[in-house]
Amino acid sequence: MKVKLMNSDGRLLQDFLPLVEGQVGMYCCGPTVYNYAHIGNMRAYTFEDILRRTLEYAGYKVNHVMNVTDVGHLTGDGDDGEDKMIKSAREQGMTVWDIAQHFTDAFFKDSERLNIKRPLQVCKATDHIQDMIDMIKTLEDKGFTYVADGNVYFNTANFPEYGRMANLENQDLQHGARVAVDENKKNYTDFVLWFTNSKFETQAMTWDSPWGKGYPGWHIECSAMSCKYLGPHFDIHCGGVDHIPIHHTNEIAQSEAANSCKWVNYWLHNEFILMKSGKMSKSKGGFITLQDLLHKGYDPLDYRYFLLGGHYRSQLVFSWESLDASRSARESLVRKIQVMKKDGAVPDLQALSEEAKRVLNDFQDHMAADLNTPRALADIWSLLKNRGLTASEKLTLILDMDRILGLKLNEVSDEVAGEEEMTGSLDEEINQLIQERQEARKNKDFSRSDEIRDQLLKQGIQIIDAPGGPKWKKN
Ligand code: AMP
Ligand code: ZN
Repeated sequence: MKVKLMNSDGRLLQDFLPLVEGQVGMYCCGPTVYNYAHIGNMRAYTFEDILRRTLEYAGYKVNHVMNVTDVGHLTGDGDDGEDKMIKSAREQGMTVWDIAQHFTDAFFKDSERLNIKRPLQVCKATDHIQDMIDMIKTLEDKGFTYVADGNVYFNTANFPEYGRMANLENQDLQHGARVAVDENKKNYTDFVLWFTNSKFETQAMTWDSPWGKGYPGWHIECSAMSCKYLGPHFDIHCGGVDHIPIHHTNEIAQSEAANSCKWVNYWLHNEFILMKSGKMSKSKGGFITLQDLLHKGYDPLDYRYFLLGGHYRSQLVFSWESLDASRSARESLVRKIQVMKKDGAVPDLQALSEEAKRVLNDFQDHMAADLNTPRALADIWSLLKNRGLTASEKLTLILDMDRILGLKLNEVSDEVAGEEEMTGSLDEEINQLIQERQEARKNKDFSRSDEIRDQLLKQGIQIIDAPGGPKWKKN
């Protein structure tokens, strides 16, 4: 399987050739843990998961590294605004450290629910301050920095290739609307590497440094941590498209200036999830989280299925109607697998007919062509209708494909969970609670329905919202 990827650096579809045969170094910008991740953010991590799974399926060993930003990310990407963590801590009445822990835990819980594989290396910015200081010192020694009003800046004029990937013309650099005017900057695009003089309030998170007590800028953390875990030159770097003009542009400048070599071979960027009303934004509030979907009774994998229905480089508009459609499609797929299993189909990848091999090759070609997940889903539906395949072959193919798609189809059992117990007898009181919970869900009173679910759990009854109505199981 020869993987081709669209490289944002040069905007070309390229054959993927790793630096070391059979291995991939992949760095993904992780969450800023000042709030819950919204479902738009989770698109970025799901796309990265699909990329990793595709590369693993193709036989590569993927060293997947992701940072957790728990310091230094201001509400504006261009050194303007307030520190996101501090703002959140004040609003929630918690310490910044507790905020970071709480939202990091919530993030990994959401990732697990979406069946996103945990990166091999998860690195917290606050655990790597010395690595950042070391990199800033190297930049200083090489003449890429200056100090103004207590803060250390990167001098973009000394890095002639600045803005290469973003294709920023001189004009964009002059008038970049998102970069606030900072009179200490020598050039419009210069950015802070180390703050000792915070413009805002006293920072709770500060560290000693050669330039005084302070804290790092946001961009330096990704450069320092990726180089630490993947070396000065590695294969793939990912993130959302919003990071191209500032964050990733600055990461490239710092890393290539510090290491005097090319930094990343392939840059991949996912497009945004939009609401009908426009952009979904964590900092502006009014966004939807995975927890919101759970409260409304969706399975997190319904959302994963919804994401697979769009190519990662296309914008995708979220609506409840399209999520409903994804839920029906996923549930119907699950039911078809249940039936195949019930009828005794057994997966066997070794004994595939020529037709089955052709179908699998098509799927692999679609995924290898810059991760065409919508085509891959269509492949599944068309193979289900294919009269040239046996039920066992269909099951084998779908389970193999799901190693990339990650819909947990291998966990589908041959009977609907709880079906048998449903026919058994339950206490009248428990029956009533189940009915009351259904009523609450119908009325969208999700806090009451959650309350009842917890109450039932305490009594050893687990409720499963299966296709066709709730099922229950004794724990
Ligand atoms: P943040 O936690 O704000 O740093 O964002 C985490 C990741 O989510 C980054 O890669 C962003 O580019 C990406 N992202 C932010 N908003 C959206 C959105 N609405 N749709 C898809 N990706 C997004
Ligand atoms: Zn980053």
